[in-house]
Amino acid sequence: MPGGNYFGIPREKIKWFPTIDYDRCTSCLTCVNFCRNGVYEVSGNPSKPKVVNPYNCVVGCSACASLCPNEAIKFPPREELIAALKELYRQAR
Ligand code: SF4
Ligand code: SF4
Repeated sequence: MPGGNYFGIPREKIKWFPTIDYDRCTSCLTCVNFCRNGVYEVSGNPSKPKVVNPYNCVVGCSACASLCPNEAIKFPPREELIAALKELYRQAR
């Protein structure tokens, strides 16, 4: 489930969400149309995707980045995510 918490950890503590390289983005809006979690909105003229609800992003998902034809969507390295989760679980014990 987007937002809320992730196995007991407040979602806002987990820095996993997309960032967009607007130099590469061509406004195809594939990402916006694909994601069902309200992470993106369209804004501007010409229309561009904007990350408006970063913590709605599903932890570990990077599907929109895989679909982007221009490699314009970036996520942190997965190793960083795993290390951060381990540390958060350690702190929660
Ligand atoms: S899929 Fe990539 S190129 Fe298309 S709008 Fe999203 S970020 Fe831009
Ligand atoms: S990674 Fe998945 S949940 Fe996150 S914005 Fe992209 S499609 Fe949506």
